[in-house]
Amino acid sequence: MGGCVRSRWLTSRGVTRLQLARAVDGGVLTRVRAGVYAVPDADPELVEAAAHGGELCCTSALRRCGVWVLDPGKRLHVRVGRAGRVHPHPGCRCVTHRDGDDAAFGAVSVVHALIQTASCQGAEGFFAAFESAWRLGLLTSADRAEVRASLSARFRYLVDLARPDADSGLESLLRLRLWRLGISLQSQVFVNGVGRVDFLAAGVLIIEVDGRQNHDGRTLRHKDLVRDAEAAAQGFETLRFDYALVVFDWPRVERAILTRLSVLRACT
Ligand SMILES: [Zn+2]
Ligand SMILES: [Zn+2]
Repeated sequence: MGGCVRSRWLTSRGVTRLQLARAVDGGVLTRVRAGVYAVPDADPELVEAAAHGGELCCTSALRRCGVWVLDPGKRLHVRVGRAGRVHPHPGCRCVTHRDGDDAAFGAVSVVHALIQTASCQGAEGFFAAFESAWRLGLLTSADRAEVRASLSARFRYLVDLARPDADSGLESLLRLRLWRLGISLQSQVFVNGVGRVDFLAAGVLIIEVDGRQNHDGRTLRHKDLVRDAEAAAQGFETLRFDYALVVFDWPRVERAILTRLSVLRACT
């Protein structure tokens, strides 16, 4: 239950009101809201979800498991269930999900969270999260089949298109968007003298997506330049994109790739 509990769950198991009051006085439990308590070391996001009225879900539950999510994470996604009540609490900016029966406390499963993410965030947000969860080893083949079967028909192709080897959600987004333009990419290709590259298009265009949060100074920049020089020496061209370009400036990325591809194809 993520360290959160209803007082009636405790009292139904023999805990008296007096014991409960003493537990709060002694700091063994903290009061979340009327009738809901938490242990002091409970995950603050799970406590906030309980304060709102349910369990952490959707992108918030995925992020907690280390899954890459496109959603910036400024709002907590909370499942309260079909008939669940939403409770006011300080600083509430929660996104309320009402799917399923009554919500418990804690967090929904990764499978459940992915299904919610499709309807809440759309195709791209779902696809990036699904590939990330798969890469992290959080999805068995039965889980993937369950996700696919539970999605609305318009999203199912995304499960079929997904791979378990995307290094970051940015790679997932780029591959999906180019696939929609009819461009198929080879992923995680080993190029002699260069190493593994993120994508190879048309056999000659290397596309690298920098998923690092901060480009870690000169050393990595130098490494990238060495790779690009070596790739060029072998007849490849390299295009590099980062988070800001892929997420906020996609038309520029698309123009760059399409133009280079048309030039390269014209030369062959
Ligand atoms: Zn959501
Ligand atoms: Zn809230």
